[in-house]
Amino acid sequence: SKSRGKNSVTFFDDMLEVKVKKEFIIKNDLVKALEKNDFSLYLQPKVDMTGKIVGCEGLIRWIKNNQIIPPNEFIPIAEKSGLILKIGEWVMKKSFDIVKEFQNDEDLKNIKLSFNVSPLQFKCENFLFNLEKIKEFANMLEIEITESVFIEDKKKAKEIIEKIHNLGFKINLDDFGTGYSSLSVLKEFDIDYLKIDKAFIDDIMSENGMVFVKTIVNMSKSLSIKTVAEGVESKEQFNILKNIGVDVYQGYLFSKPLPKEEFIKFVKSYTFN
Ligand code: C2E
Ligand code: CA
Ligand code: CA
Repeated sequence: SKSRGKNSVTFFDDMLEVKVKKEFIIKNDLVKALEKNDFSLYLQPKVDMTGKIVGCEGLIRWIKNNQIIPPNEFIPIAEKSGLILKIGEWVMKKSFDIVKEFQNDEDLKNIKLSFNVSPLQFKCENFLFNLEKIKEFANMLEIEITESVFIEDKKKAKEIIEKIHNLGFKINLDDFGTGYSSLSVLKEFDIDYLKIDKAFIDDIMSENGMVFVKTIVNMSKSLSIKTVAEGVESKEQFNILKNIGVDVYQGYLFSKPLPKEEFIKFVKSYTFN
């Protein structure tokens, strides 16, 4: 009936209002969280073919009233409101402090740290300026960007990539294969590591899934790009990926992302077999 139609419109209006209000609240809380430093950079190990820990990825967590809020619940809102720029600066500074601290410990000094850079941050003037400030440990730090930074202004993106390399940082292309861009980004943009998305690793036990990843890895090799497998959860997956010749592995099989102190303990007691 007509009245029911009207009600459902009101219902969706209400839903939208709830969503907008929720985002508004999160945004305001995020501003406060930035002032209070209520974030933590968790670290997830990356290993080589032999299982040795060679690096880690920094993954942000929001510690709100003793609760851990995962990035998927606030990064998109931070991205929309521009707050991601401040959060990104915090991540960069934190990453720097961590590798600096690692330099004083034999067990940790060779562990590289990659941090995530949002598309908005990547294009922001301040980004290169901030990178310059942490270039002292550029050889221990890597950045992770997604294909989306290549879409709009290709020339600008190439310039930024060149400047990042000139400062000495390596670049990971994150979530490869999930976006809209084509394979040609690999030959067009100078990247050091290609991170094969978890979705493809999930599919590796199937013949087609295996052939797909194998093709990506072979192509990367021919372009001198190293590969990283994301979301490795089982030994079977690890073995297949090793056979294919993936360089670096990350996933729950080795460890979940851990708070820094736990990560250090993990490294010090780690044996893989
Ligand atoms: P991402 O960069 O693709 O990070 C990998 C995500 O996969 C992480 O989720 C990690 O915990 C999860 N993961 C790793 N191994 C496994 C596995 O074996 N199984 C499963 N099921 N998941 C695994 P997380 O930490 O929740 O981060 C989600 C996303 O939030 C990240 O995806 C990244 O896009 C964003 N993010 C995280 N930290 C930052 C940051 O500091 N800055 C920005 N701009 N974005 C960030
Ligand atoms: Ca990442
Ligand atoms: Ca990823």
